[in-house]
Amino acid sequence: MKTLKQSWAEPYKIKMVELLKMTTQSHRRKAMSEAGFNTFLLKSEDVYIDLLTDSGTSAMSDHQWAGMMMGDEAYAGSRNFYHLEEVVKNIYGYKYLVPTHQGRGAENILSKILIKKGDIIPGNMYFTTTRLHQELAGGKFEDIIIDEAHDPENEFPFKGNVDLEKLEKLIKKYGAKRIPYVSMATSVNMAGGQPISLKNLKDLRALTKKHGIRVIHDMTRVAENAHFIQQREKGYEHKSIREIVKEINSYTDGATMSAKKDALVNIGGFLALNDWDVFEEARNMVVVYEGLHTYGGLAGRDMEAMAIGILESVNDNHIHARVGQVIYLGEKMIEYGVPIVKPIGGHGIFLDAKKFLPHIPQDQFPAQTLAAEVYLDSGVRTMERGVVSAGRKANGENYYPKLELVRFTIPRRVYTQAHMDVIAESVANVYGRRNKIKGMKMVYEPKYLRFFQARFEKLK
Ligand SMILES: *Cc1c(COP(=O)(O)O)cnc(C)c1O
Repeated sequence: MKTLKQSWAEPYKIKMVELLKMTTQSHRRKAMSEAGFNTFLLKSEDVYIDLLTDSGTSAMSDHQWAGMMMGDEAYAGSRNFYHLEEVVKNIYGYKYLVPTHQGRGAENILSKILIKKGDIIPGNMYFTTTRLHQELAGGKFEDIIIDEAHDPENEFPFKGNVDLEKLEKLIKKYGAKRIPYVSMATSVNMAGGQPISLKNLKDLRALTKKHGIRVIHDMTRVAENAHFIQQREKGYEHKSIREIVKEINSYTDGATMSAKKDALVNIGGFLALNDWDVFEEARNMVVVYEGLHTYGGLAGRDMEAMAIGILESVNDNHIHARVGQVIYLGEKMIEYGVPIVKPIGGHGIFLDAKKFLPHIPQDQFPAQTLAAEVYLDSGVRTMERGVVSAGRKANGENYYPKLELVRFTIPRRVYTQAHMDVIAESVANVYGRRNKIKGMKMVYEPKYLRFFQARFEKLK
């Protein structure tokens, strides 16, 4: 007998709502032009459905809000710090915790401690802030993700995997001494939220152990990665998200975390470590850049919300509905014939702008253009992940990434299924008139992380 399809539904109900502003086309045209055709420069008030990022945009639960009221705002030794420390130990399995204001605060401290000038940091695809901190500390990032990750059409289930041959080549070329750690991310953001398998991670652990190289885990979206392992990797279908998360972490030596993603808070992050020596240095350095080691730039209430958010984030029903919503949107877009990165990732849908707008060359910013067009169509805000985000090399040349994408990032527990329908319909609408869309030129370019503040003009 065939089993009936079983739908997922949100494991929560709504207690409070935030009203949205609906805008007209002419209003949006004016707003986009004032924002220099950069969705980062739009005022949030002018946005209808905001898919700019899943960072810090989650809806907190009533438990988290109650936790906020239990904030202990002592300068030193806040009880919320000890609660967070206990949760990080229990849920994630790392021994030592240094809180930071967000993920990049942890990246800064870690890079400064572990990287020397001339070092090589291999990783499964770059992330903007992570790579910049590695470079500012004198290191050079080398991409060792499998080739499949650079092909939006390839449906390999673990496109976040590390290519161990690429890593071995780097070890041979530079020697293990010049490689302070492998920068390993779960749910690889820039590849479209693609997971790494536990098999690959175990192999990575074995290889790095042989050479005495650390593995540092960018665990920003570890629970979403665990979900894909549970769905796709043999032997894990009956393990809980909690168990899988703990196993992932057990093959690594430490982690940087942006709690603004998986961990369901609006601000916060941390550095977690297993080595006492590195921890001791980090605990000292955090005082310089973030704040005392028991608050790291956060209020006590923020640490409490984070501790509770971490517990909620590894609940199987939560993560099933979270990723289920993303997949629902992706499947709608596929139905409309829109080219997206496959398989559908954990935190958003990524339009393939090279395929969507094949007549626009990469130096006329097809993804930037497409993000602007979607906003103009419906007030849905997305962002570019292509040549603008990739920035320039140390020698001033542009990076030209293979992937030229527009990211539709879904905030956690914020929008409904009907919102997903509206988003997909708008994209289908833009797709219908894609041949008439022209590219853009960049008229202002900031020096660091240019995608945040660059300005553009439409080509005539
Ligand atoms: C967001 C993010 C970071 C940086 O964290 P912030 O909290 O934004 O500073 C690092 N790595 C990944 C994969 C991210 O998505």
